[in-house]
Amino acid sequence: MTAPAHPSRKSSLRDLTSRVPRITSANNGDGHAHDLPTSSYFGINTFGARQMRDKLPKDVYAKLVAAIRQGKKLDLEIAPTVAQVIKEWAIGRGVTHFTHWFQPQTGLTAEKHDAFLNFDDDRQPLESFSGSQLIQSEPDASSFPSGGLRATWEARGYTAWNPSSPVFIVEAGGTKTLCIPSVFIGYNGEALDEMTPLLRSSDVLSAKAIELLELLGDKGVQRVFTTLGPEQEYFLIDRGHFALRPDLVMAGRTLVGAPPPRGQQLEDHYFGGIPERIQACIAEAEHELYKLGVPIVTRHNEVAPSQFEMAPMFEETDIAVDHNQMAMAVLRRVALRHGLQALLNEKPFAGINGSGKHCNWSLAISADNPEIDGFNLLKPGKTPHQNIRFLVFLAAVLKGVHRHAGLLRAGIASSGNEHRLGANEAPPAIISVFMGASLTAMIESIAAGKTSANAAQAMIKLGVAKLPEVEKDNTDRNRTSPFAFTGNKFEFRAVGSSASIAFPIVLLNAAVAEALGEIADEVRANTKKGKSVDDVVLGVVRQIFKDTASIRFEGNNYSDEWVKEAEKRGLPNLRRTPEALEQLVGRPARTLLNKLNILSKAELESRYHVRLERYVKDILIEMHTLKEILDTLVIPAAFSYSGSLAASAAHAVSAGIKNVPQVAAANEVGALIESLRTKRDALVAAIEKAEGLHDDLPKQAKFLTSTGAESMVAAREVADQLELSISDDCWPLPKYREMLFPV
Ligand code: ADP
Ligand code: MG
Repeated sequence: MTAPAHPSRKSSLRDLTSRVPRITSANNGDGHAHDLPTSSYFGINTFGARQMRDKLPKDVYAKLVAAIRQGKKLDLEIAPTVAQVIKEWAIGRGVTHFTHWFQPQTGLTAEKHDAFLNFDDDRQPLESFSGSQLIQSEPDASSFPSGGLRATWEARGYTAWNPSSPVFIVEAGGTKTLCIPSVFIGYNGEALDEMTPLLRSSDVLSAKAIELLELLGDKGVQRVFTTLGPEQEYFLIDRGHFALRPDLVMAGRTLVGAPPPRGQQLEDHYFGGIPERIQACIAEAEHELYKLGVPIVTRHNEVAPSQFEMAPMFEETDIAVDHNQMAMAVLRRVALRHGLQALLNEKPFAGINGSGKHCNWSLAISADNPEIDGFNLLKPGKTPHQNIRFLVFLAAVLKGVHRHAGLLRAGIASSGNEHRLGANEAPPAIISVFMGASLTAMIESIAAGKTSANAAQAMIKLGVAKLPEVEKDNTDRNRTSPFAFTGNKFEFRAVGSSASIAFPIVLLNAAVAEALGEIADEVRANTKKGKSVDDVVLGVVRQIFKDTASIRFEGNNYSDEWVKEAEKRGLPNLRRTPEALEQLVGRPARTLLNKLNILSKAELESRYHVRLERYVKDILIEMHTLKEILDTLVIPAAFSYSGSLAASAAHAVSAGIKNVPQVAAANEVGALIESLRTKRDALVAAIEKAEGLHDDLPKQAKFLTSTGAESMVAAREVADQLELSISDDCWPLPKYREMLFPV
């Protein structure tokens, strides 16, 4: 018996070497070539406030803007006019269908397309789009994750246009579809999606921040909004390889695969030259995103081989969240055109870096007072007053993160992120804040309280009156921190690459809103006693800096010492997803989110269930996929290799050859196969046990995160040894070196 060839792997490898970049200098058929300046077609597939202003009657436009500003649903009276204008624009661009585009709790977006096609009284075809079709539609809520909400309330839900996010056209498969960004709510107003709580959290944060600013003497502030610049990391591998890996197709990450001798240790990939095929793909994705008004400004190689990053210019958070969803979707879609597969999972490959989504976050003022309009509240200023304002907002963030570190960890918990957090490249599950040397020195001297009561003088004495060195100090920042101050914003680095950013930001907004509210209360209470506001504020800030010292950490977050130190400081270290998610149903989370009207008790519990259920499903899918890979690929390959060793040994013996090492080799492989079969049986037993626990979700999750996950690791270890022991010809899966180092 000879080893069977595996033509699938070998021939696909041969095919791959002949692949060339897809050059799209022309365009995608819309007349907008890459060689046109980006600004000439940026946003061409969106219809936002500017276009509305040109097309709508003045009074209708004014009402629309008011609705956008106040985050209100659109007035039914003006909806038909707005719908008419949008329809004309869309049909003029060749659009045939429209959809309410929303973000259910799947991490992805959802859409159901309806044609503009209608018939008049004479049964003649025409295009129509009514005001009510623009404002609202009714998908069946029971088909989306609701975490038990549908059991207690009606199954029906509806989507409603969120007019603050512009409508846009998606071009795919030669068709064009009008997407109407929407929220998704149950019939009693329950939030069934990611966007509704985000909008609520933005509102409450704004209200609390304005309250505090007014106390500080900043008048005329209309809104305080958060800004967000999410840096998206991802892998791009050949689609041919992807298709041959059941684990990547089913679970988004490899469940077996021996690490190659060369991973990222040469440090040659980060910021290295982008391969031409990849460059063509990224450029086409960016081109699509520009048409959609998504301001991607940065592209580069990331640390791991075949890993890349794209980053937009920051925008108002609600828009940035939509845009990040669009960026992920476009990247996936365009990659296919190039014979590539975008992997957005947090840890597609063991032993090399995973992918995160660094969320750069700050707060800014929208005001009719031009002196402060657009002002970044986390940017150090030039006067003592500006810096008191800077310090108090900084203190609010520290206070919020200190009190709700566990909750923030819950917001980033997923099966994929679990493999990334605390591995070599990513911050551990312990949330701490990095401030940089000069701010730390300043915070500590303020906390030490050596200065006099007069705030302005104290600021001057402390050198806080002008803070020019803060930004410089942070350019060489600590990349190991999960939550780092980077000169004029915080960078929440622990967020996973595939996640919707909405939920982590909801929790951050909530934690900071609560802190701002408490600070405002305290300032108000103390000012009444006759002290100046600035003096009172400095006192409050000093107390916060003292109370929150344990959350600040400037050292190496990847080190073992930090884990011990954090424990001493009493910081939560929630390593596994189930224990992290439990934070969502604890009293502090409930109190925080109920009090601020961001999530009711039932809505919060539903989020806990959706996420825990998702975790359980993810792990079970992984376990079943691994079992299938072992049974149908790895073990058969090992059998055929040991069969060929046996045949070859028999030949050698019958030819009278004395030295027959094939026997020892076959025995070694045999031992590995035996061991793998034992591990495989343990994996199957774990699957059965886990599935038997389906009535008790938390117990099921606990079992899967321990015994379940361990059974996968144990089986993988032996499978990976086999990969390195048997003939390359026999191995049926694309190997790490083939996927990550395309030739
Ligand atoms: P680096 O590339 O060193 O990480 P950048 O200054 O280029 O730092 O910022 C990275 C991301 O942070 C970009 O998406 C950028 O738009 C965003 N960013 C910059 N300023 C702000 C801000 N005030 N609020 C939110 N995001 C910001
Ligand atoms: Mg960066």
